[in-house]
Amino acid sequence: MKPAAFEYHRPTTVDDAVELLDEHDDAELMAGNQSLGIVMANRLATPDHVIDVNRIDELDYVDVGEDAVRIGAMVRHRTIERSDLLADHLPMLPEAAEQIAGPSVRNRGTLGGSIGEADPAGNYPAVAVALDGTLHLRSVDGEREVSAEDYFIAYMFTDLRENELVESLSVPRDPYPPERTGMAFLELKRAAQTWPTLSAAAAVRVDDPDADDPAVEHARLALANAADVPLRVEAAEDTVEDAPISEATLSEAAAAATDAAEPSGEMHADEEFKEEVAGEYARRALRTAFDRARGVEPPAFDGDAGRAEA
Ligand SMILES: Cc1cc2nc3c(=O)[nH]c(=O)nc-3n(C[C@H](O)[C@H](O)[C@H](O)COP(=O)(O)OP(=O)(O)OC[C@H]3O[C@@H](n4cnc5c(N)ncnc54)[C@H](O)[C@@H]3O)c2cc1C
Repeated sequence: MKPAAFEYHRPTTVDDAVELLDEHDDAELMAGNQSLGIVMANRLATPDHVIDVNRIDELDYVDVGEDAVRIGAMVRHRTIERSDLLADHLPMLPEAAEQIAGPSVRNRGTLGGSIGEADPAGNYPAVAVALDGTLHLRSVDGEREVSAEDYFIAYMFTDLRENELVESLSVPRDPYPPERTGMAFLELKRAAQTWPTLSAAAAVRVDDPDADDPAVEHARLALANAADVPLRVEAAEDTVEDAPISEATLSEAAAAATDAAEPSGEMHADEEFKEEVAGEYARRALRTAFDRARGVEPPAFDGDAGRAEA
């Protein structure tokens, strides 16, 4: 099927884009068009106006500031995957990006499109929640900031207003000093290039990476596709904080993640299976992040389908 007819707009500044959003009630932003194109071709969305934001250069940046790392909405998955700055400061993001679909989707798909789409299985929504991210939203009325945890409200439903766009995501630097922090984004996939059955995003900061048994000072864990929204699991974080990681604390964290998960069943993974996977991937992600924080090679886990070829 072909999309229904629409009027096409191609602004080159954020100001012009938000003017257009404000002017037209029935408008969709078009970023990488990797999801919107499919939805429109199947006429599940028939907007009267499409606002193509691909020429807005001011949305395409990665900035490591004194207090926060900020990433513009038009940064593509491939750029995130290959960014040395992000690999140094927020390695969870490149690890999440490199596991999205295949090269053609990663070459076009964007951070803003993924946050705008707000699929609870999406990689960046879980990263944003895990890392205490803030979403910077723009409209004709100015900028508004919303914490990632408050932004995702229900299944593919967000706090974004009709006349707003996502300008960027920022993540505070203070909780994640690279020399004492490990991060992990792990997915269970049936096959490369499919959406994951479930993913776990973890960040762990230790007190002394050179100690034999460093204690966890700060832990963050979020799951994708384990509920209607990206799910932060505070009970799991609490079980591993303020002590060295052990098999016992990891098992408690896994049980907390299984308890917290409220997944929808799918053709290849019913609810019970996904709850179990939530626990196991919480365990693996926390363990991997902890090992990376102290510069130790994490164990190889069985059962992951291969990653998409670069
Ligand atoms: C085969 C396949 C497999 C995939 N696998 C994964 C996966 O494993 N993990 C994953 O996370 N994603 C996956 N994706 C989705 C992919 O990441 C998409 O690129 C992404 O979800 C949408 O990004 P986009 O830039 O293409 O946005 P578009 O398709 O252009 O837009 C998507 C939605 O976001 C809105 N939007 C776009 N930009 C903004 C903005 N700045 N502010 C507010 N709203 C905006 C649009 O209006 C639209 O409603 C997959 C996609 C495909 C086709």
